[in-house]
Amino acid sequence: MFHDELRSSASGGGVSTTAVSNGGGRSRGFLRGWQIPNTFFNIKIMILCGFVTILVLLGTISIGNLGSSSAESVNQSLIKETVPPILAEIPSDSHSTELAEPPIAEIITSSNTTYTLGPRITNWDSQRKVWLSKNPEFPSIVNGKARILLLTGSSPGPCEKPIGDYYLLKSVKNKIDYCRLHGIEIVYNMAHLDEELSGYWTKLPMIRKLMLSHPEVEWIWWMDSDAMFTDILFEIPLSRYEKHNLVIHGYPDLLFNQKSWIALNTGIFLLRNCQWSLDLLDAWAPMGPKGPIRDEAGKILTAYLKGRPAFEADDQSALIYLLLSQKDKWIDKVYVENQYYLHGFWEGLVDRYEEMIEKYHPGLGDERWPFVTHFVGCKPCGKYADYAVDRCFKSMERAFNFADNQVLKLYGFSHRGLLSPNVKRIRNETVSPLEAVDKFDIRRMHAETKP
Ligand code: UDP
Ligand code: MN
Repeated sequence: MFHDELRSSASGGGVSTTAVSNGGGRSRGFLRGWQIPNTFFNIKIMILCGFVTILVLLGTISIGNLGSSSAESVNQSLIKETVPPILAEIPSDSHSTELAEPPIAEIITSSNTTYTLGPRITNWDSQRKVWLSKNPEFPSIVNGKARILLLTGSSPGPCEKPIGDYYLLKSVKNKIDYCRLHGIEIVYNMAHLDEELSGYWTKLPMIRKLMLSHPEVEWIWWMDSDAMFTDILFEIPLSRYEKHNLVIHGYPDLLFNQKSWIALNTGIFLLRNCQWSLDLLDAWAPMGPKGPIRDEAGKILTAYLKGRPAFEADDQSALIYLLLSQKDKWIDKVYVENQYYLHGFWEGLVDRYEEMIEKYHPGLGDERWPFVTHFVGCKPCGKYADYAVDRCFKSMERAFNFADNQVLKLYGFSHRGLLSPNVKRIRNETVSPLEAVDKFDIRRMHAETKP
């Protein structure tokens, strides 16, 4: 969901306008596009390249006018760290940022069969409260901590290549480790509960189902299959979110001022089990049904959101659009987090792991030791990635081993290198193993050593 293809366009690549749906992944086939020997396609690309060049020039000229306040310049440098340069440089006014009455609402309501995730529930908070009081053996708070259920998943069938399944396995192994160490429950979903909401939209019906089937769970935490925990010690600062229902990584300036389609990342987010969240899912899902609705909604999203290539509606753009077009309704309960990497874009992180090991330590969660490394655009399970396959898998291997070393430390082992699946001993066996437990067990580390 981060937008790399625009980055390649800045270096002479190009932006394909062809929307490619591969039945699940979000691959827009940008790389594949170049292999199609089609003159019309090439002309389109030339025009687009010209357009992008003009935008870059405009951006370069206007960048000097930015940074009038220090707060803004801090914001700008933050954006530059995480956003492809070309996006950061396009001036906000180069794109229509006016959001009038949302036309998507028209598309959706004008069709007689408005899509719903299920029967409309209006009193969930009271239903849940009654249930919790009747079932004290299923408390929503355990040992003073709100109960969290981490949800992840992948398509029902096998990956395009066996190596894809191998990395899905590594990625879920990583999540199981993190969840085990922090008392978080985990669910892996491979079912398309709703045929219309396939691919990246699958998370929506599943989140709703989990909320309704697990009233004891306070937070549902969605995490993409292509994201890994790279700070095994770091814990979500839940107390910060007491007044919020959606916690998502992003940048307010990109969201409110630039209306960028990468302002938020829906690859990782937490949603509170409450009526507000059910309402949000109801408002979010209607843009997702496969076919004409998803295609038409995609056109509107592309017209409104800065930097968005032309392709079918995706859950991330739809959420950003919803939050912008109905800001008063939702925004108070949304926590846009960027103090740590709830979502950390892999490029720019994976090559710095050695440096991090040398200078810092786990538990920081930010650019010094990223909480999550997310392989946006890599499509490990799909056919068409936005990046070279080798680079993606190599980077995933590094992220996995970087994280796994933090898990293996308790057992006295470490990977032979960040690219090696093999391990080596880092401590001698001892007749008093409990000393190592006291020293290295993440579960027993004192709260004050955690952030
Ligand atoms: N996914 C799923 N079921 C499917 C297809 C995808 O649960 O049938 C999930 C999977 O976890 C995947 C996520 O949807 O990671 C979103 O897709 P992806 O990570 O490829 O998108 P990107 O982060 O590259 O934009
Ligand atoms: Mn992803």
